[in-house]
Amino acid sequence: MSTPATRHASATDTREANPLAIVQEMMRACIQCGTCSASCPNASAMDLTPRHLWRLVQLGRMEKIFQSHTFTLCSACYYCSLRCPRGLNPSDAMAEFKQIAARGRMRQYGDTTHFCRDFVDNVRRNGRLQEMTLMTAYFMHMRRPTLPLRFASLGWKLQSKAKVSLPTLRRGAPKLEALFRKVEEMEGDGT
Ligand code: SF4
Ligand code: SF4
Repeated sequence: MSTPATRHASATDTREANPLAIVQEMMRACIQCGTCSASCPNASAMDLTPRHLWRLVQLGRMEKIFQSHTFTLCSACYYCSLRCPRGLNPSDAMAEFKQIAARGRMRQYGDTTHFCRDFVDNVRRNGRLQEMTLMTAYFMHMRRPTLPLRFASLGWKLQSKAKVSLPTLRRGAPKLEALFRKVEEMEGDGT
């Protein structure tokens, strides 16, 4: 009988043989209708539309896919998954690309990988996202003294709309920690 650990081992083998295999399987039934691109709130900032990306996936064009920054701009809103007429899950496929880039330590996505790790660490430690401490950790990891300046105007804008929370009590952290541990156990991976 397959268990979460054996399923994870088999997914790991598949990924090692062909990093694109899992996304190809997920998006095999894509009919290129473009509903995902038309629904995506971030599409205008992407260099390739989501629909274009799925075609490259079907063709196995790994190099072209990882020259693009499209998947780094996916905010996992799941709108494309909700509207796909084939019932596919483009949002999870975008997340899989982020995993491939992180596992392969692709330099061109270094900033994104750091940000994703700091984001998850922040939620795990605090039980919810604390924007101030997230950005502080991210800037410290990036070790680029001028980087905070690039975010200064956005920071002010968000602050003026009360979208940036100050550090609060870590109420949800213990419950969330149990979930993180369970997932690590299921994946057989403590990293
Ligand atoms: S909405 Fe679904 S079927 Fe249409 S292009 Fe996007 S992934 Fe493919
Ligand atoms: S999940 Fe990502 S790709 Fe899909 S609509 Fe939202 S931002 Fe766009």
